[in-house]
Amino acid sequence: MTYDLTVIGSGPGGYIAAIRASQLGMKVALIEKYSTLGGTCLNVGCIPSKALLDSSELYHQAVHRFSDHGLEVETPKIDFGKMIGRKGEVVKQTTDGIAFLMKKNKIDVLQGFGSFVDKNTIKIEGEESKIINTKNTVIATGSKPVMLPFIEFDKKRVITSTEALELKEIPKHLIVIGGGVIGLELGSVYARLGAEVTVVEYADALIPTMDVSLGKEMQKVLKKEGFKFNLKTKVESVKVEGEEVVVKATDKKGKEIEIKGDYCLVSIGRRPYTDKLNFEAIGGKMDERGRIDVNDHLETSVEGVYAIGDVVKGAMLAHKAEEEGVYVAERMNGQKPHINYKLIPGVVYTWPEVASVGYTEQELKESKRAYKAGSFPFRASGRARASMDIDGLVKVLADKETDEILGMHIIGPRAADMISEGVVAMEFRASAEDISRMSHAHPTYSEAIKEACLAATDDRALNM
Ligand code: FAD
Repeated sequence: MTYDLTVIGSGPGGYIAAIRASQLGMKVALIEKYSTLGGTCLNVGCIPSKALLDSSELYHQAVHRFSDHGLEVETPKIDFGKMIGRKGEVVKQTTDGIAFLMKKNKIDVLQGFGSFVDKNTIKIEGEESKIINTKNTVIATGSKPVMLPFIEFDKKRVITSTEALELKEIPKHLIVIGGGVIGLELGSVYARLGAEVTVVEYADALIPTMDVSLGKEMQKVLKKEGFKFNLKTKVESVKVEGEEVVVKATDKKGKEIEIKGDYCLVSIGRRPYTDKLNFEAIGGKMDERGRIDVNDHLETSVEGVYAIGDVVKGAMLAHKAEEEGVYVAERMNGQKPHINYKLIPGVVYTWPEVASVGYTEQELKESKRAYKAGSFPFRASGRARASMDIDGLVKVLADKETDEILGMHIIGPRAADMISEGVVAMEFRASAEDISRMSHAHPTYSEAIKEACLAATDDRALNM
């Protein structure tokens, strides 16, 4: 039998491409080398990290915030094994859900390692190896953590996010190399559970790709939680000495520093994963950063072969991979889908959460676009005061002439959910005034978005 479509990799890019293609009447095979479906996101990424972030936030609230609400409890004991077990159960339910969806959509799941024989023939090496024929292929093989040669990576004391989600004990002192999303999220988990956390970051700001105001505010808030930060610091070596990890680095003044901890999380980025795929042997081109080279329609240099998600250019995010999965399936079926890459939101699930969409203030300055900014602090929000989540702000950037919203940047409670308002507004090319004339339920955190839009339109915020 010849499949209409074979998808290699079952992460959010791959499994969504498979479902959409099946909805459109294609006969689809999905190849996954691991025994569970869902890829990085469901197994060792988005879902397990959020499960541990939620558990650790509850503990943190009980220890540090319950008494503010007049709730006196004895300090809760942490059963870390149970916490990790609950995370595992959440992952299992979610990955089982994907297996169910594959059955429901009549997609053949083939377990094993997929590689190209030629553009229409794929070899699957697993318990039962086989060869299948296919008219089209989507490569959705995702990414793996980046490691550096001078880091002694033993997966026990010097770990990546994968091991950080499966530790047997709470670190006493966790050194985090890389102050990006993954480092701050997993650092937060362990800081809340009582670990000392030291972040070493090469750039001069946290979450450097987001609007600069967010990184600054984030640093203030996490400092209050006990995080220590070494920005503009270059790691020179990471060595394991018994039960200790020793990190040597050069700080911003050029001075050599040494940091000792019991665990070191290396979260300096992820690299596209195409190992042993044999893609280049069939004429596939890679780009200058080792990603699969695709055109604007996500077509590779090999006819009938598409690539999506972390393995191609763009943000390494699950929802970006999903959009691309739908895109390629629809395009193969003669539709004309569209993705607005500028409106893929970015989120950090610390508390407060950070969420951002559209242009940052730095980008607007660099492109010399005339803009105006309006912001509103959560301390001025009644809803935020009620829950005592007063750290953070909403910042809205709008075109100076037309008032069209160009960017929305939030650090605050439930920012991850609230950013959808910015995405919808910008997708429909709303002006700041449009949002400021729409009724927002009171009291809600989202009123801060309306107020920031009012602030951007002639400084008209009402509650500040
Ligand atoms: P992946 O999810 O990486 O899936 C690729 C799959 O392909 C894997 O299952 C792999 O085993 C399989 N595979 C690879 N090669 C082969 C082969 N040759 N044969 C068969 N199978 C193969 N993103 C968010 O949007 N929100 C978050 O909150 C978030 N949190 C994260 C937290 C952590 C700790 C990490 C590490 C990542 C997080 N991400 C998050 C990023 C997100 O996980 C990725 O962007 C997303 O998983 C990419 O999807 P994908 O389909 O491209 O690839």
